[in-house]
Amino acid sequence: MSTSPTISFIGAGNMASAIIGGMLDSGFKAGDIWVSAPDDNHLQTLRKRFGISVTTDNRYCAEQADMVVLAVKPQVMADVCRDIAPVVQNTRPLMVSIAAGLTAGTLDQWLGGGLPLVRVMPNTPSLVGKGAAGLYANSQVKDDQKKMVQSVFESIGTALWVDDENLLHAVTALSGSGPAYFFLMLEALESAATEAGIDADTARKLAIQTMAGAAEMAGRSEHDPAQLKRNVMSPGGTTEQAIHTFEDGGLRELVQKAYGAAFTRSQEMS
Ligand code: NAD
Repeated sequence: MSTSPTISFIGAGNMASAIIGGMLDSGFKAGDIWVSAPDDNHLQTLRKRFGISVTTDNRYCAEQADMVVLAVKPQVMADVCRDIAPVVQNTRPLMVSIAAGLTAGTLDQWLGGGLPLVRVMPNTPSLVGKGAAGLYANSQVKDDQKKMVQSVFESIGTALWVDDENLLHAVTALSGSGPAYFFLMLEALESAATEAGIDADTARKLAIQTMAGAAEMAGRSEHDPAQLKRNVMSPGGTTEQAIHTFEDGGLRELVQKAYGAAFTRSQEMS
């Protein structure tokens, strides 16, 4: 008999599929994973693809689990939680929500109160195994449960804890919305390079590889980004010209303002 924890997903969409794929790649067993959703055809596709167990019965799915991942859209979360509440109040699994904007207090209330609960703020690159997630645990969550949820989210990228739930707004404005900031930079660079005569396809490929390479270097280097930047700025050279143009144009202040706007919107939406 398996002694590894059983992990159930309520909701079988993009995020659930990405997490399950990552879990299986990193050594979780298909036999320990359950998924529920209303569309049986889709569930059968997932069952064939991953070898996991599937059901259209959310309560039955939740009942199997040591950890229940709530992977539905925020609009249906209240109904889903209230429906499974009698079951999870009995079995008391670790509850994990990946929905933006719904606080631990609200979720706990819908689930009947007093359960260990983790909120995760993942981002879209999770879908390609390169996510960056912020995690917050309420006071009921034990250390071994924190390890369990961390290992699940590390299977699709980086997973880091914050010790105050309000900091999830800061995570949202950084890594949650962050992919779009870098997509904007890619768009702008591609457009500048095509105006200089490079064809769009070549410009895009060079820009993407430059961004990925810079990220890889920053992640591996012992130097901070400011030093890495100085290392490529020879006095009087091309990079120095561009960096001075960014600084003189107020890029730092603009980033601060954009970050603040996302942060405030995240607070307003919760
Ligand atoms: P999705 O629309 O792809 O999947 C939602 C799933 O929920 C579908 O399988 C749907 O059939 C199922 N569902 C609907 N009603 C249900 C019910 N009553 N019971 C059980 N299942 C039901 O959405 P997604 O992109 O996977 O997002 C899931 C959650 O993750 C959302 O709360 C979203 O805010 C959050 N999130 C997603 C991303 C992302 O990159 N996609 C990033 C951060 C957070």
